[in-house]
Amino acid sequence: MRKILLVAAVFLASFAPAVDAYASQTATVVSPKRPLNVRAGSAVWTTQLRTLPHGASVAIACQVKGQLINQGPVRVTDQWDRLTDGSYVSDAWIRRPATPIPACGPAAPVAPAAVAAAAAVTTTTGTVASGRTPLKARTGPVHTAALIAALPSGTPLTLVCQQRGENVAGSQRVTPMWDRLPEGTYVSDAYVRRTATPPPCTAATQPVAAPAAPAADGAWTSPLPGFRARPGFRTAGNPNHIGVDIMSFTGTPIHAASAGTVVEVVCNIEAGHSCDETGSASIGGCGWYVKLQHAGGISTLYCHMVRKATVQPGQKVKAGQILGYVGTSGNSSAPHLHFEVHINAPPTNPQNAVDPLPFMRTHGAPIG
Ligand SMILES: [Zn+2]
Repeated sequence: MRKILLVAAVFLASFAPAVDAYASQTATVVSPKRPLNVRAGSAVWTTQLRTLPHGASVAIACQVKGQLINQGPVRVTDQWDRLTDGSYVSDAWIRRPATPIPACGPAAPVAPAAVAAAAAVTTTTGTVASGRTPLKARTGPVHTAALIAALPSGTPLTLVCQQRGENVAGSQRVTPMWDRLPEGTYVSDAYVRRTATPPPCTAATQPVAAPAAPAADGAWTSPLPGFRARPGFRTAGNPNHIGVDIMSFTGTPIHAASAGTVVEVVCNIEAGHSCDETGSASIGGCGWYVKLQHAGGISTLYCHMVRKATVQPGQKVKAGQILGYVGTSGNSSAPHLHFEVHINAPPTNPQNAVDPLPFMRTHGAPIG
């Protein structure tokens, strides 16, 4: 019976002229430390429309899948509640009756006027000021990261947030800050003319979908384009180290080294610690990690992510697809990617780990 009702609700939703066609459910904001942001979409980098204080009452029309929020006091969830005016709040901050909330239909009735009005106030905009040379938009905050686009001087930009990366002396300033664009690419802030400073990129402001580094299916590509691994596979001083470490910055996207299937998304850490905390050399475990299975019995492992990966077990990924973001969870004393390659897998074990530096070099994607 419930199934029939749900189908009817979705059917109505797709044809309904306004969101208030839904029967709404009243719920309460749980956000004692700071007001809850109400947004134009189901992710924290969408436009902030207004805030709601702790204890405020909201009318939920339906739910959509969006950005995973793991910092809310009520639950860890990727569900966002669409309110009856078409705005969104993360369900992680909402206390509500156990009654299921219907999934939102395909219509996305965000009030355009409200979004435009809020956008005028909260979005940071800028303009490329790079003279005759176009400004490069890259997959990471460093000039060696894969090039995605070349933006001519004068191009208007929407600046989502700022991330620390390579220091650049440009036309506007000398700065290590890079601006993240809505597509998930980065431009050096040294060449961006702007009147306001974008907010810092945090774990919560990562894009859901960012551009994959250009690589053909079946081909291999660096998991951290632009960053170099140092030799460190099974050294005399560290014989149990069965991968290489690529030093980077927290939040830099980690890419699938080749096409494959996600086989594990795991928090691997010593009992009593959390993968969502900054790790340390005295804690055991590779933190938040992802394992991929590729063709030919090859498996790759990506450790110390800043938080749980954005991909799911069973998911097929393309070469270069973003798996998660650099962090320092688990046995780690600074933000970096610990990268392993195993042959004759599954299973993966210390015996079938190979040195990633020559492996990647012979597969046309040197990382050292
Ligand atoms: Zn390592």
